[in-house]
Amino acid sequence: MEYGEATFVRILIISDIHGNIAALNAVLHSAGQVDEVWNLGDIVGYGPDPSACIETVSSLKPSVSLVGNHDLASIGDLPISDFNPVAAAAATWTADQLSDVHRDYLHSLPSLIRRVGDVFAHGSPRDPVWEYVDSGSIATANFHAVEFQRCYVGHTHRASTARLAGNCTAANLSSLREDDVLELNDGRLLINPGSVGQPRDGDPRAAFAIVDLARNTLTSRRVAYDIEATQRAIVDAGLPAMLAERLAVGR
Ligand code: ZN
Repeated sequence: MEYGEATFVRILIISDIHGNIAALNAVLHSAGQVDEVWNLGDIVGYGPDPSACIETVSSLKPSVSLVGNHDLASIGDLPISDFNPVAAAAATWTADQLSDVHRDYLHSLPSLIRRVGDVFAHGSPRDPVWEYVDSGSIATANFHAVEFQRCYVGHTHRASTARLAGNCTAANLSSLREDDVLELNDGRLLINPGSVGQPRDGDPRAAFAIVDLARNTLTSRRVAYDIEATQRAIVDAGLPAMLAERLAVGR
């Protein structure tokens, strides 16, 4: 593309799909035409359709695609004993569903990517696999520990953001609601698009984000999906019932 030519690049950010193909398909339909996809990890774990989710994500050819802790557990790269009993049961079940091709795809993914001023990590930039950026103090510590202009994370399943602007040395973490718009060039930013397949911020709809590079904005989005279909598939698969129940309340 030539310098000066108008660019209208739309990027879809997805994270924590967790084997929920109904939610992922709803997100892709709602997002419409995009130029790039960024996947922030945990394609599998908890949900009933890990294989379909890996195939769909890999077919999107995401320019950023990260591995998450549940992805690692399902391919034996992280001990399942590190998980609570429900997550461990789901990880064991998920491991049984995956083909070599699926395992190879997950195995090929990094846990952290740097691109110009941007950093992408599933958990946090200083601890990409495990740390939850779920408070202002943890966001602040990451702003000070790692150099970045914008950092995109998942893992908490809560759409949220923290900003460090001007002379501020501490950041607050605030929730991102549907249709909230962030200016991407205003200070340093940490952004979590929320979870596609298992939201935990009280809104059971699938969460995602759209970056518009022409406007330099990010918009937080939600879309309803067939929760009952995913719940039935979880029960039919013999996965723990609480994994079905929590989807209805988004907790
Ligand atoms: Zn997750």
